[in-house]
Order: sequence, then C-alpha cells, then structure tokens
Amino acid sequence: MIEVAVFVVVLLAFIGVGIYLSTLRTRAPAPPPGETTGSASPTVEAPAPESQKPETAAPELEPAEAPARPVAPTGLGARIRALFAGGKASPETWAGLEEALVRADVGPTAAAAVVGRVREHYRPPMDPADVVADEVAGLFAEDPAWEAPSGPDGRPGVVMIVGVNGTGKTTTIGKIAARLRGEGRSVGMAASDTFRAAAGEQLGVWAERTGATLVAQERGADPGAVAFDAVKAAEARNLDVLFVDTAGRLHTRTPLMEELKKVRRVLEKAAGRPPDQVLLVLDATTGQNGIQQARSFTEAVDVTGVVLTKLDGTARGGIVLAVREELGIPVALVGTGEGVGDLAPFDATAFARALIA
Ligand code: GDP
Repeated sequence: MIEVAVFVVVLLAFIGVGIYLSTLRTRAPAPPPGETTGSASPTVEAPAPESQKPETAAPELEPAEAPARPVAPTGLGARIRALFAGGKASPETWAGLEEALVRADVGPTAAAAVVGRVREHYRPPMDPADVVADEVAGLFAEDPAWEAPSGPDGRPGVVMIVGVNGTGKTTTIGKIAARLRGEGRSVGMAASDTFRAAAGEQLGVWAERTGATLVAQERGADPGAVAFDAVKAAEARNLDVLFVDTAGRLHTRTPLMEELKKVRRVLEKAAGRPPDQVLLVLDATTGQNGIQQARSFTEAVDVTGVVLTKLDGTARGGIVLAVREELGIPVALVGTGEGVGDLAPFDATAFARALIA
C-alpha cells in the first residue's frame, strides 16, 4: 500500500515538473527564422541586438526594395509590357516608359525621343516592347557602318583611341588589328599611353600577336613624341592604318584632356591633317557616367565614334543612346569579350533587342 502511495506521489511530481517545463518553453523568445532550437549555443540563438540589425536585415530587404531601385536593363521588355497592360496607353504609361528608359541609362533626351516615336507608331494590339525596340534601333538608322579609314593619296589612315583607364582601349586596338590583318591590311600601333606601366608592353603583345608594327618609347616618354614618330613610321612603311593608344589617366600634374589635345595636335602636324577618326572606348558597365566621359573627351579631342565594350556582361549599354542623341556620336563597334575575336560591328537592331529584352 505504501509502495503504491509512493509511486503515485513520484508520478504526480514528474507530471508537475513536465507542465512547468513546457510553460517555460512557450514563454521563451521565438528563435530567429531558419535557426534550429536544438544544439545552438545561447549566443547564436539570441536575437541580434538592434545595433547589429542592418547587417542581417539588408539582404532580406533587397527583394522588397527591388521596385524602387534602377530598372535592371534585362527586365525592360517585361516592364514595358506591364506598363501597357490592357492595351491602352495613358499619360502614366508614357511617363512610366520614359522613366524606365532613363533608368536603363538611356538618358533623358534619348528617352524623350524614343517615347515620342513610340507614341506615333504604337497601336494595340502591337507588342509595345517590340515597338520600343524598333524605335531605339531607329535612332541609329542614319549611321553608316564603321570602316577603318585610309588617308589621302594612299597614306595611312590615323585613328586616335581615347577613353578612361580600364575601358578596353588597348584590347580594342588589338582586336581591330587582328580583324584588319585578317583582311590583308597592314596596321601600325602607337603606344602613346606612356604613363601606365603595362600599357606599352600590353600593346606590344597585341602587335606581336597580330603582326602589326609597334612604335613605342620608354615609360614616361612624351606621348606626343611617340605619336609623331608613329605617323612618320607608318608613312615610311606604307601602312594602311595607324592606331594611337592614349592614356586614360595621368600621374602627373598635366590634366588628361590637355595631354590628349596635345597628342591630337601632334598627329595633325605629323600627318598634315587631323586624325581621320577619334574613337572613344566606353565600358557598358559604366552606366550613366558614360555621358560625362563622352562629353569631356568630345570637347577635348572631337570624338567621331564610340566603341562599346564589355557587352558580354549583364550591362546592356543603354548609355550609347544618350551619347548618340545628346552628342551626335554614332557607335562604331562593340566588344563582347576579352578574346581577339570578341569584336563586332555595331548592329542597331540586335543592340535594341538586347536592351529591351
Ligand atoms: P585600357 O586601360 O582602356 O587600355 O583597357 P584594357 O584594354 O587594358 O582592358 C581592361 C580590361 O578589360 C582587360 O582585362 C580586358 O581584357 C578587358 N576587356 C576589354 N574589352 C572587353 C570586353 O569587350 N569584354 C570583357 N569582358 N572584357 C574586356
């Protein structure tokens, strides 16, 4: 009898402790999502103090904030179709289209031009994204295809290549040289970026690889002197075309634009005429800053065409529309990778389809 009583008391004690423990568990703070309750140590389990929240909160907030961030160029087509949902276009639709284009680096002038043209031509049930792409391509319709220049009386054509460091100037010269050499033309390269340590060597590698004639001097030499010698060497050797690589950043007190103007003047003096072309290399990933670059280089050395590099990445290069509309500069070529063959003539239709995709 006594044993039964002891057993009942022990049993009741166990039940009591169990109920107490389960109350404790419901009162404990909920673990952060994704964390297990089992074996983690108290420091890991503890909710983050307020001061640490931004670190952990940022990635979670991203999807929610996405609509407020600049439109990803790759989503432009879907965004345009959403704006035109229902087929009818309201004033909000046109304003939304203009904003979406500006956010894709197209710039306000080109965006307004495209919207104006789409307003004229869009009729439901057309696909609005197709109409926008057609009108974007239309902005380049008058531009002739790029060709390497030739000088008067069979003299070498002279092309000055400008752009900020890292945009792809040297690589572009190498790619163009390879293409022209493949067509049987002779090419010269002037290493007038005498400021960047590796620039001359890099150009030398391209010259060797493509069978081009390189004119270079030691690092720190006068870029104008290299340019002058290169024109004279190209003429003496009857080369078809000379490409003059230039600095994108200086480590001296002379402003870059002043140095480039000087190179241009020297080329003019050496050849007896201004450079036949001045190509600005623009990196597609630069975004809206590209228009400032284009403006500065154009004011200094009168840019005649743009080479849009790094189109192989996610950037769609909407900036060239801004450059075309605001400065009247056409796109000559596009770079689509680091390889020697990754260069293509600018195809406005393909460009517009990729931008609006
Ligand atoms: P520079 O300073 O303007 O002469 O630029 P470089 O010619 O040295 O190029 C800078 C970097 O960009 C190098 O790593 C190149 O291989 C790379 N680059 C150049 N053009 C392209 C391109 O069209 N696509 C990609 N992905 N990389 C490129």
